[in-house]
Amino acid sequence: MSESRQESRRKCISCGINIAGTSAAAFNCPECGHGIYRCAKCRKQSNLYECPDCGFRGP
Ligand SMILES: [Zn+2]
Ligand SMILES: [Zn+2]
Repeated sequence: MSESRQESRRKCISCGINIAGTSAAAFNCPECGHGIYRCAKCRKQSNLYECPDCGFRGP
């Protein structure tokens, strides 16, 4: 009953750090549209991400 706050779950998909208040990139999974966030560091390094919802992997 208390799991409805998705705003507090913003963390980098690649390294898992909390990216609230940082210049992280936000985009949607091309497969399922799941909201994905990636921190500036991982974006620079073009780290792979994996959608937690459908398992899609992308650069
Ligand atoms: Zn990261
Ligand atoms: Zn997905």
